[in-house]
Amino acid sequence: MRVAVFDTHAYDRRFLDEANQAAGRHDLVFFEPRLSSQTAALAEGFDAVCVFVNDHLDAETLRALHAGGTRSVALRCAGYNNVDLAVAHQLRMRVARVPAYSPHAVAEHTVALILALNRKIHRAHQRVREGNFALDGLLGFELQGRTAGVIGTGRIGVNVARILASFGCRVLAYDVVQADELERYGVEYVDLDTLIAESNVITLHVPLMPETHHVIDADAVARMPRGAMLINTSRGGLVDTRAVIDGLKSGQVGSLGLDVYEEEEAIFFQDLSDAIIQDDVFARLLSFPNVIVTGHQAFFTETAMRNIAETTLANLDGFEDGAALETELQPA
Ligand code: NAD
Repeated sequence: MRVAVFDTHAYDRRFLDEANQAAGRHDLVFFEPRLSSQTAALAEGFDAVCVFVNDHLDAETLRALHAGGTRSVALRCAGYNNVDLAVAHQLRMRVARVPAYSPHAVAEHTVALILALNRKIHRAHQRVREGNFALDGLLGFELQGRTAGVIGTGRIGVNVARILASFGCRVLAYDVVQADELERYGVEYVDLDTLIAESNVITLHVPLMPETHHVIDADAVARMPRGAMLINTSRGGLVDTRAVIDGLKSGQVGSLGLDVYEEEEAIFFQDLSDAIIQDDVFARLLSFPNVIVTGHQAFFTETAMRNIAETTLANLDGFEDGAALETELQPA
């Protein structure tokens, strides 16, 4: 199968080529641009496209792909909020994703942000490199005995809750479906208001949907315990960034760890070190000493990249063979 792989970096090529080498079934052609209606013409004559989180598969793009002969879409990610599934279905285009590649990668990155923020590792690292060994400003807090709230206990949230319970936290959880396995770690399911009101650390692991958009808004910020830590490694749109900035300015939010950002599309996954950041909200975030931002890298481990590539290749095999795929997305 001829596959146009969009939004690729050297690391995507490495893992996809390695996974393809074993059977050598597919002709993968790598393109750096993101897929959109403007770049869809690059896929003309290709049977399938392979895309990532910031490629835009709206109605216009899907129709352009279909007109060029493309019939299948292999998402190399779990989220699919960037695909108009209803239109894909109308066009009889198949869409498959990688539902789980390593929940541990994201869970461990979440905990890395929590620990870096509460012990101020980012500040200590910079100071020590400049020969400053003073401790003023580095006073941390212990997780043992603190209350941590996990919003969303699916594949990733379950692992975050388990790790936080092992630190000796009282762990509160909120989800529309309860994960039975968390009972053995003493995790208590509560309603969202209780979780927000009682948690010293709040971490988000629900998908971005209309119901979860801005789940952390100005009202939620006001109801948190003063000085609470907020972590978002899920999707930027879960957090009203301006409300959280106000919370940081007033001290209501004690610290913030983000791996995702509402407007990340214009910023993340590229080297902008020579550019002037035009997004003033993002620039304000970077000015706080108690904020750590990573550029959507929580998934980025060897294990996860290998799993993503292997599932993506299996999805392409299924498309070519006309086989049913468990990873295939159906319109709602
Ligand atoms: P999952 O589907 O296993 O879990 C999501 C959980 O959210 C489920 O338990 C579901 O019941 C719950 N949920 C859904 N709607 C809800 C609602 N309205 N209220 C409360 N709970 C609700 O997903 P996952 O694999 O754990 O991933 C979670 C999210 O993490 C993904 O949606 C994705 O946005 C994000 N993610 C980020 C990265 C990264 O690199 N930063 C990587 C992978 C996934």
